[in-house]
Amino acid sequence: MQIINPATEAIIDTVEEDGKDSLLHKFQVLTIAQKAWAAHPLSDRLAVISRFHALLESEQAVLVATLTAEAGKPLQQSVNEINGASTRIQWILSHAAKYLEDEYMTDTAGMKEKISYEPLGVICNISAWNYPWLVGVNVFIPALIAGNAVMYKPSEYATLTGFHIARLLKMAGLPDGVFQVAIGGKGTGENLLDMDFAGYFFTGSYQTGKHIYERVARKMVPCQLELGGKDPVYVMDDVKDIKNVAAGTADGAFYNNGQSCCAVERIYVHEKIYDEYLNEFVKEVKSWKTGDPTEAGVYTGPLTRKEQLDELEKQVVDAVQKGASLLTGGKRIPGKGYYFEPTVFTNVTHEMRLMKEESFGPIIGIMKVKNDEEALALMQDTPYGLTAAVYSADRERAAALLQQVNSGTSYWNCCDRVSAAVPWSGRKHSGIGVTLSHQGIRAFTKTKSWHLRG
Ligand code: NAD
Repeated sequence: MQIINPATEAIIDTVEEDGKDSLLHKFQVLTIAQKAWAAHPLSDRLAVISRFHALLESEQAVLVATLTAEAGKPLQQSVNEINGASTRIQWILSHAAKYLEDEYMTDTAGMKEKISYEPLGVICNISAWNYPWLVGVNVFIPALIAGNAVMYKPSEYATLTGFHIARLLKMAGLPDGVFQVAIGGKGTGENLLDMDFAGYFFTGSYQTGKHIYERVARKMVPCQLELGGKDPVYVMDDVKDIKNVAAGTADGAFYNNGQSCCAVERIYVHEKIYDEYLNEFVKEVKSWKTGDPTEAGVYTGPLTRKEQLDELEKQVVDAVQKGASLLTGGKRIPGKGYYFEPTVFTNVTHEMRLMKEESFGPIIGIMKVKNDEEALALMQDTPYGLTAAVYSADRERAAALLQQVNSGTSYWNCCDRVSAAVPWSGRKHSGIGVTLSHQGIRAFTKTKSWHLRG
């Protein structure tokens, strides 16, 4: 399998994909290693992850260079991702013991009732490329701490990052065999679905997630899916600083070239402030530097996947045909690399693909609304349910609206952010299950209830 730099289209490495036999071998190794790993005291497991955490800092330069080379992420955004992963690991390290220790629920004379949290066993993590560190850490860190062994399949677009993760875990003292990298794309993923893992943890698109859910259903093991979104933002008429709100929401839409599961994908603006907001938004987008992701100051680099360029072009053609107005961008940038201009449309409707399908690229539709009722109806008009944001000076008014949106996360005066302290979960086509928070630590365990008489 060739690893291609999306900025230059140069082949930067060639790796051998796993076949059925090598995957089975890795699975057998994991099965043996897991038992010994789970038998280690929790403090030992935490110590390994703590050393891994420290390595993220000392190895940062090489991790950043690899991420930028294989995913096309601007250098500063690669740095941000490694730092973000580090913050999450720190949170999990500080809280894991509390949520994994036995819990006494009843303690009366003659009868005690407690819950213990046991590891699932050997789990499979099929991962995405857009934030390989962040979405990986959400799964393999709590999984390992809880005593599981992990088959980690990085996306085929983040394979080299997957190798770094395995290397650093080994350097941190993780016993041999407890973490294995499954190398390859769809075929490798399919082979993993045939095997008997104790749980499947997937991050990726709705289409693949649905397929995986159906394929593994008969195994009757946990299957968590962190999928895509079509996340809306509504800017109310009472916002104080329109320029700042426009800049913040533009960043929410275009950071990482729009390739974030919780990227802002649709914007609704109250008619009273619409013109000013639009003006500031477009000004902000035009101020960014697009180009070589290794160059200082570049905000939008290439897309990671070439195929996405076709998708974006289709959304542009469809929007124009149906009457949308193009304010900036709208086409590929000629030459080497998978570059697409940051693109802003207005006069959009929900008849357009741009407002319905996950774009996962540097493109946004902005729509004028008359009132909160209209905004709410439009925000809800989606099969997805990952996040939703409202900007307003009035927290109560924003909360009243957000309460009615069927999404896993609500944002007031912010967007496109994730915190380890609260659950990360999607509703509807955005997924099933939870990572992060205390629930995301326990997601990698099975409970045992103890009734202790005497
Ligand atoms: P994808 O579905 O194309 O691939 C994800 C993973 O699944 C890859 O490792 C891929 O090799 C593997 N895969 C593909 N076909 C498979 C099959 N038939 N069987 C088993 N495995 C298979 O998604 P992607 O392009 O890597 O990621 C982008 C998507 O991920 C977007 O929709 C984005 O919103 C979503 N995402 C969601 C979150 C979240 O937390 N909710 C986070 C990041 C990305």
